[in-house]
Amino acid sequence: MERKRLMEVTTLLKDNQESLGIHLKYDKDKVNLDWVHINTEGDLVNRESDVDTRPAGEGRLKMYWGTCSTAPLPRAGCPQYWEMVSRDSHVKPLTGNGLILEVGVCREEQRDVSHCISGQPSSYSLDVVHCPTHGVICMETWKEGKHVLCLPDTLPNKARASHTLHYGLVYDDTRKKIAFIDVKENKVISTLDNVDSSQPLWPMFGVYNPYLLTVSMTLVVGSDINMTEEKKAMIVKALS
Ligand SMILES: [Zn+2]
Repeated sequence: MERKRLMEVTTLLKDNQESLGIHLKYDKDKVNLDWVHINTEGDLVNRESDVDTRPAGEGRLKMYWGTCSTAPLPRAGCPQYWEMVSRDSHVKPLTGNGLILEVGVCREEQRDVSHCISGQPSSYSLDVVHCPTHGVICMETWKEGKHVLCLPDTLPNKARASHTLHYGLVYDDTRKKIAFIDVKENKVISTLDNVDSSQPLWPMFGVYNPYLLTVSMTLVVGSDINMTEEKKAMIVKALS
C-alpha cells in the first residue's frame, strides 16, 4: 500500500477510536425466537428461550437463525469495526453443510430470506461451517452469493469439544471494503472489495444447529474492544 494511504488510515483509526468501534447492538425485537434467544448476559444463543415466552410477534425474523443490529451501518467517512467472541461446545460432530455461526452484512431485504445470508445477493459474510468439500469445519467467506474462500480445520469436529473464536469485522465505506480478522490468530482472514453500499447494509448474527452444539456469541463494541497497536496495524493492512 502506498505510504500516504497507510498514514491516512492510521490517522483515521487514531482520531476516530470511538466511531471506529461502532456501537452496534443486537436487535432484541428482531430475534428469531423459534431458534435463538438473547440470554441474561446479552449473548446470542442457539436455543429457544425457556424464559422469554413473548409471542413471536410482528417484525421478528422468521427465516434467519439469529438477529440483525438495531440499525444499518452508517455511511461514515472512517472505517467501522466490531468484534464477536463465540463459544461453542459440541454434542455431536457436524455433517453436510452444518453451520456453527455466521457474521456479516446484507441489505435490508436479504435479512430474512433464508436461515443464513451467505447464499444471498447483496450480502457479505463469514461462516464457520462443516464443509462437504474438505470434510472438516471450515471458515468460509461469501460475497454476493458466491463462495470466495475456504480455510479448512478452523475447529476440530468432535463431540464433547469446546472452543472459543474471536473475530473482527471492519467496514470501510470510502474504500468499499469489508474485512474479516481473526483476533485470536492476529491475522486477516479475507478482505472483500467492491462492496455495493448503494443501499444501507445491516450487520447480521447467526447461530445454528442446537441439536448438535451449543453456541453463544458476544458482540464486542466501542470501548470494550481492546484496540491494540497490533490490531490497528492489522486493520490498516486489511483495508490496504
Ligand atoms: Zn472447506
